[in-house]
This record gives sequence, structure tokens and C-alpha cells, in this order.
Amino acid sequence: MNIQTELIEQLCGLLTQGPRRIVIVSHTNPDGDAIGSSLAWAEALEQAGHTVTCIVPNRYPYFLNWMPRIREVVIFKDRPEEAQRAVGEAELLFCLDFNALPRLEILSDTIAANTAAHRILIDHHLSPTEGFELAFSYPEASSTCFLIYLLVEALFGTEVITREMAELLYVGIMTDTGNFAYSNLTPELFRAVALLIERGISVPDIHNSVYNAYTAGRARLFGYAINRKMELIQNGRVAYMSLLERELRRFCFQQGDSEGFVNYPLTIKKVKMSAMFLEHHDFIRISLRSRGRVDVNLFARKYFDGGGHKNAAGGKSYLPMEETIARYVEAVAEFAAEGNLA
Ligand code: 5GP
Ligand code: MN
Repeated sequence: MNIQTELIEQLCGLLTQGPRRIVIVSHTNPDGDAIGSSLAWAEALEQAGHTVTCIVPNRYPYFLNWMPRIREVVIFKDRPEEAQRAVGEAELLFCLDFNALPRLEILSDTIAANTAAHRILIDHHLSPTEGFELAFSYPEASSTCFLIYLLVEALFGTEVITREMAELLYVGIMTDTGNFAYSNLTPELFRAVALLIERGISVPDIHNSVYNAYTAGRARLFGYAINRKMELIQNGRVAYMSLLERELRRFCFQQGDSEGFVNYPLTIKKVKMSAMFLEHHDFIRISLRSRGRVDVNLFARKYFDGGGHKNAAGGKSYLPMEETIARYVEAVAEFAAEGNLA
């Protein structure tokens, strides 16, 4: 995978006209790739003399709390004035790990309001929207962190990669590839990881910090979701699970606790597509996963106003849970009838 030379030259042009005030934003419900890519890019830009603020719309999951520099991330929901001030003053605005401003939800209007800043997209989701002066959109990249690695390499050289930056990048690479299990695992990616290891990161420590750091409530909620709430339809080829707010409360739910649940039904040999419906106060957040040629990005776009990647996507529903599920079951039947589950 190669990043276009003209794009790199244009970005280089923007970054070499003296120190800049820069804001980096990433998506709602930020994950390891969103946070890792934002903070690693911030560190590279700061080393080059720029002033950087990282902003996300809402809280990141608690199992990322250990990440280097994570306390520097401004959470818009908690500190809106500080975020608005930084965005208002920004000369360069980097949009990382999402493909369309509405994915910023409560932060979208603030970002849209600054029309003067150079707007640059660095992302690996399908179908990015227009409106970016520069768009590093590479859906074949397994993570935004890998894209940041390639950009740092091209612009500054890998010498600038510190151990801290290597840890940040590794988190996004590890989480977005499902621990090196999904598609787009290229030799270049493993060569990048080799360099991160040369910088002194501990792969087992990072793995433990992210995947083995949950609460007991989360473990029990997982058991409950699989045992009591998982349904199989379409002759066992499609799974779904749902969790209502009152069920979440019973297990002392914290942001991030349901991370990974949607993947589990895909450990069943016959299952090709899995959905998770999570109730928030005024809507239902939908997570979708699939294997092989079953395209949940297409499904999410068509039926649930969402999108993402071919095998991992998401969307929303403003109907009550029962109606959302009924709509899903119907949509899956239509999707199957069109030959999309074969
Ligand atoms: P997750 O299920 O982990 O929240 O999201 C899976 C993938 O789908 C991520 O790459 C995420 O960015 C994308 N995604 C999740 N929700 C939405 C949504 O509402 N709209 C769009 N366009 N993408 C989403
Ligand atoms: Mn990502």
C-alpha cells in the first residue's frame, strides 16, 4: 500500500510554513485506533514545532486509561468551551479515523463552524464524503494508526518514533486488526510492527492492558448477553443480541464494557453476520460484524443510516428496541433474498 506522493507533498507544504495551531479530531465512542492515531500524530507534529490539541466528542473506554498522554485528550462533552476555543483558533484540522463529519455527532457543528482551517482527512473507512482539502483515504489500510505510521515515515522518517509513539500506534494496529486476525495484514504492516518493537514496546503488556483489564460486571454482562440474549435466525447464519439500559445498569455498565460482544457469535461456524443493539437514552446504537464476502457496510448504509467497513460497521435506530429488532429481522430476510448472505 502506497500513499500518493502528491498528497504527501501537499501536506508537507502545509506543515513547513512555520509553526501551526493544529486540532486533531476523532469519532464518537473513540476506540484504540482513534485515540492511538490522534495522540501519535500529535506527538509527531509537536516534535516538528506545532501546537496540537486532540479532541473527541465523548469519553473513551476505561481500558484505554493507561495509554501515554491520554489525559491530554479534550473530551468535548466534558469541556466544550476548551474544545470550541481550540477549534476556533486552529489553522489545520486533522480528521482521523472517520469518513464524514456527522460521525462526530455532538462535535460536528463546532468543527463545521471553522471554515477557515485547512481540513485534512486521514482515514481507512469506505466512502469518505467530500469537503476535505486533502484526503488520505485508504480503506485498504488495516487501521488509521498504520496510516499515521506511513505518514510519519514519509514526512519525518521513522527516527522520530519514540517508544511512547510506538505504544500508541501499536494499540490502534492491534485493536483494529482484531489482534492480527482480520483482513489487510500485509508484510508492510508486520515490518512496521517490527520497528515499533525495536522502539521498546512490550507486546504482552499492551495486550494485557487493553484486553485483560475489564471489571467483573463486564464479564458477567458478557455471560448474560451470550446466554440469555443471543438469538439465531436465517437457519443459524445470522445472530443478534440486544441490551436495554436497565439491563446495562444491573451490571454497572461503563462505556466500553460491550466492546467485542458483537464478535463472539462469529465464533460459531455457521454464523456469517452478527448484530448488537445497545440502548442509549434516546436511540439504539447498532454494531454489525460479518465474515467473508457478507458486506455489513452495505447493510448498515441501506437499513440503518450507518456505514464502516465491509466486515465491521455500525448504525443507529430511533425506534424502540422491539421495533428495531423486527426491522433488523426483516432487513436481513431481504438482504438474504438478494443473495447477500451466500
Ligand atoms: P463499532 O461497532 O465498533 O462501534 O463500529 C464498527 C465500525 O463501524 C467502525 O469502523 C465505525 O467507525 C463504524 N461505524 C459505527 N457506527 C457508525 C455509524 O453510525 N455510521 C457510520 N458511517 N459508521 C459507523
Ligand atoms: Mn480505525
